Amino acid sequence: MGEKTEKLMAAADEHLIRVYNRFPVAFSGGKGMYLTDVEGKQYLDFASGIGVNAFGANDEEFTKAIRDQVGKVLHTSNLYYHGPLAEAAQRLSEVSGLDKVFFTNSGAEAIEGALKTAKRYYYNRMGKNDAEVIAMKHSFHGRTVGSLSVTGTDEYRAPFYPLMSGVAFADFNDLSSVEEAVTDRTCAIIFEPLQGEGGIHPATKEFMEGVRKLCDEKGILLIFDEIQCGLGRTGSFYTFQQYGVRPDILTTAKALGGGLPVGAFVVTNDVAENSLKPGDHGSTYGGNPLCTRAVAESLKLLKERNLPGHVKELAPCFEASLEKLTQKFSFVKEHRGMGYMQGLELAPSVKAIDVVKKALSKGLILLTAEGNVVRMLPPLIAEKEDFDRMEEILAEVMGDFAE
Ligand SMILES: *Cc1c(COP(=O)(O)O)cnc(C)c1O
Repeated sequence: MGEKTEKLMAAADEHLIRVYNRFPVAFSGGKGMYLTDVEGKQYLDFASGIGVNAFGANDEEFTKAIRDQVGKVLHTSNLYYHGPLAEAAQRLSEVSGLDKVFFTNSGAEAIEGALKTAKRYYYNRMGKNDAEVIAMKHSFHGRTVGSLSVTGTDEYRAPFYPLMSGVAFADFNDLSSVEEAVTDRTCAIIFEPLQGEGGIHPATKEFMEGVRKLCDEKGILLIFDEIQCGLGRTGSFYTFQQYGVRPDILTTAKALGGGLPVGAFVVTNDVAENSLKPGDHGSTYGGNPLCTRAVAESLKLLKERNLPGHVKELAPCFEASLEKLTQKFSFVKEHRGMGYMQGLELAPSVKAIDVVKKALSKGLILLTAEGNVVRMLPPLIAEKEDFDRMEEILAEVMGDFAE
């Protein structure tokens, strides 16, 4: 570790609450697929800041739009209108195929809003306030109390009980377990069409269609959390579009602001008209001019550059590299995923976190996920040469674990 890094780490650790296990690297810049640390070392980015930096580092057009907005107006509050808000909402409803948008400051807040919307819809319809929600085991929806209440990992939840009541957990991709969890108080079913933190598990078509049908029959709202898997990452603007199954409420964040902190929940007209009323929800920052300018610009660039199409076209290259690594190393159990959201599941003999640490020291940025999975979320601009380079570095790294 270099001297600059060491100094920076010591200064930060002195005054920060230790909730993150940070790697001993400090980034200071980058371009495209590569990041640079304070020592001047280069890294190939297969994490995108956890699926955020869709355009890679320092995209010229994107940063130009942000700089332009910084010179105009940063914040107004939601007591007034502004241009970027209208454009961002219009573009988001267009790419999602849903109707009405509420902007938040994070993914967890989008989940909070989605849950409140579903409860409000139920309250409106039933005149009762005993609504229940069904979520999935191994799901991840965020760290606030509401979003943690629907996150299916005990380890994250247990220290913070009691959480929001009325949540039942079903098995992902098991329709009968969802059916068994339904009661006449169920107001919503929430899941990720492609589970991220839980270990890169795509929903089956039967599950997506089955849950939709169940929701229609019982008058339950279907919430898709596409905070990680949305916005082109799997080869379409939203993953649900590849299944032909539409949610009533969609949550989106991460790549939405291209690096600025912003999320949203998007709903159908039916939900919008029969749930939240003026005074029911709000946020001081939510949808501010700087962040919504970032949303408008991100959605514009994703569309203009057809990045969902690019991901779809290049994903087989990515998968071919992962297949080669799976063949080559016996401790790699399998690779799975969609588009540019992929995981390598390792046998217990090799820890995914150790592979990630070693890869980082060799200039490749990776992530982990639950279940001993090495997770990869490269920027959507990744080309074949980037997959080749990733494969080369990872083959070298994994070779060290193969003895
Ligand atoms: C990251 C993530 C969240 C939480 O988003 P934050 O911006 O960290 O609050 C929720 N759901 C999914 C699927 C995520 O990947």
